[in-house]
Amino acid sequence: MKLASGRVGRLPAYAVQRIATIKRRLLAEGRDVIDLGAGDADLAPPEIAVRTLAEAVKDPKMSRYAFQTGLPEFREAVARYMDRRFDVQIDPNTELLPLLGSKDGLSHLPLALLDPGDLCLVPEPGYAPYLGGAILAGAEIETYRLRAEHGFLVDLDELHPNLLDRLQLVFLNYPNNPTTGVATRDYLVRTVQLCARHGIVLAYDNPYCELVFEGYHAPSIFEIPGAREVAIEFLSMSKSFSMTGWRIGWALGRPELIAALQHVKTYTDTGPFLAVQRAAAAVLDQADRILPRVCETFRRRRDAAVEALRAVGLEVPRPRATMYLWVPLPAGLDSFGFAERLLEEQGVVVLPGASFGPGGEGYFRVALTVSEARFAEATQRIGRALAPAQAG
Ligand code: PMP
Repeated sequence: MKLASGRVGRLPAYAVQRIATIKRRLLAEGRDVIDLGAGDADLAPPEIAVRTLAEAVKDPKMSRYAFQTGLPEFREAVARYMDRRFDVQIDPNTELLPLLGSKDGLSHLPLALLDPGDLCLVPEPGYAPYLGGAILAGAEIETYRLRAEHGFLVDLDELHPNLLDRLQLVFLNYPNNPTTGVATRDYLVRTVQLCARHGIVLAYDNPYCELVFEGYHAPSIFEIPGAREVAIEFLSMSKSFSMTGWRIGWALGRPELIAALQHVKTYTDTGPFLAVQRAAAAVLDQADRILPRVCETFRRRRDAAVEALRAVGLEVPRPRATMYLWVPLPAGLDSFGFAERLLEEQGVVVLPGASFGPGGEGYFRVALTVSEARFAEATQRIGRALAPAQAG
């Protein structure tokens, strides 16, 4: 009997499962665990989300299938939001697809665009569903190593011309998880031009565009001239509005790309819960009022965390965006070994850099998902776990 396909066999183990298993055991033993692992903040969702959802579920129409295009008021609210925040105008009927969180769209995109053997570029370290989606589609995968000295940017110009000509799909994610790197406008202009020249679809994963500090503006890819020809962008309510579990996001792009993704999803799901779409629409219309407080919370947490980590000897950069810190480990420490020891001995969950791909070795990622006081306690424990390496 065949119990798993070859494709499933080729999917790398979701690397953080081991960490999750250790955490469960420690909690069962009654240990105090501080979890700085998943990008899943402790903040409450906006009150208007909760109120609108509570009302919406009383309407029997909201309990019907959403189907792919979903609720017109959600699509229209997304279009208004894109116009207001990015000066990007979209047709909510043909250029937008509601998603069960952006992971849904990112992981299904290769199935929609690639045939077996087609070439897809995946940055690493990076978010695992790019790789997983490409493997499930039977695509050929070229990985691109993100490097600190290059601002963690994917420079397509570095690729061999033959490779560029074969490339069908590139995943980019700025502000970046896990490295916290950001893209300048010039970089995006160059990249869009290159994709256009070589006929490459640019999948722009942008769930952190609202978690920005000191006036930094993280653009929508559609602010860039020519992007409408080559790009599909993924946005999400998860991080900006502390709604990870609600599973709501969207894809934007030229109608053919949206239609292909929609066609795949017609066979795999029936769209986000209509009541959630109604609540998300209400939140988007109030985004300008809600977001400053969210950003201020993460900015305060970022500053406290950077100072605390530097005080225990970790030279961590101060990111301009995202809810993460990407922390270089002292030389010689292996990221999986360190993260597991930190958890076992000190009860702190961080993600080993290598869990995002081999290029993440030498780092760990912390998520700013707990209060400043709790983070301070976590940092003391991180300092204790580092002490033997620093003494050596
Ligand atoms: N892209 C990146 C880079 C992420 O870090 C995440 C969540 N960790 C997502 C996409 C998916 O978020 P969601 O499915 O909740 O919208």
